Amino acid sequence: MFVFGPVPSRRLGKSLGVNNIPKKICSYNCVYCQVGETRIHTIKRKAYIKPEILEKEVKERLENQRADYITFVPDGEPTLDANLGVEINLMKKYGNVAVITNGSLLFREDVRKELKAADWISIKIDTVDENTWKKIDVPYKKLSFFEVMEGIEKFSEEYKGKLVTETMLVDGINDDEKNLQKVAEFIRDINVSKTYITLPLRPPRVPYVKPPSRDKIQRAYMIFSSYDLPVVLLDFPEEGEFSIGGNFKAGLLSILSVHPMREEDVFKLMKEERIDPRILKDLESSGKIEKVNYMGVNFYRRKW
Ligand code: SF4
Repeated sequence: MFVFGPVPSRRLGKSLGVNNIPKKICSYNCVYCQVGETRIHTIKRKAYIKPEILEKEVKERLENQRADYITFVPDGEPTLDANLGVEINLMKKYGNVAVITNGSLLFREDVRKELKAADWISIKIDTVDENTWKKIDVPYKKLSFFEVMEGIEKFSEEYKGKLVTETMLVDGINDDEKNLQKVAEFIRDINVSKTYITLPLRPPRVPYVKPPSRDKIQRAYMIFSSYDLPVVLLDFPEEGEFSIGGNFKAGLLSILSVHPMREEDVFKLMKEERIDPRILKDLESSGKIEKVNYMGVNFYRRKW
């Protein structure tokens, strides 16, 4: 299964997720990544899944339910998929299309052109300082920081849909005032419809990663506001209904592979779907999922 949900999204309402990249192929290896360690660190684009297969799954999932967005939010970086342009155009038949990208391939003209067909694009801008970028986003070694920044600027000039940015704040890495002022300055110049400040609220790749203190989070919000940015602070977990589809085990695994879920949400879903609790135990004992505690909250996530 490559399509999951719809899942509740704090930015997109009900989002039907499309996982167009096998785990975990990415141009970054962010310290806060909730998918885990990058297995293939690359900037080479490649075709992975036949677009017709993704389309068929989306069509089936939307037969008896609606979604606000069909969102490319995979186990890695979506623009590494050489078929992304074809897939975006196929999905547009079924609704609004969103892509959540780290922006690192926007220096490529083909990637910018393909993304232009989507209705909503989110680009990651955690920092505009090269050393901090290496620390927090851990980019593929051949990526040029200058080219990445320039690619984002170019895309923002060309794109006509809704462009948003997200800045993940990590305690002690990118939460200092100087960094935040420079980030705000950069975002001000690329004309976004919203800029989101996010926090690591789900179990990260590197266990020591934590959100900054409440004071620092407020300070970050104030800095962004002082640059007249349309800033939204996402300091709460998503709320709403998860949807699994026909096969509970397969549906849960496909959500958990990109999106660790709070234990309480998994239990709620199982109750609603009248699922035997032993199924969860089976998945855990067979090593397919694991329970982890992060900042006092229990989560289930996919284990590989
Ligand atoms: S957070 Fe996104 S960009 Fe960063 S390593 Fe994970 S999948 Fe890649």
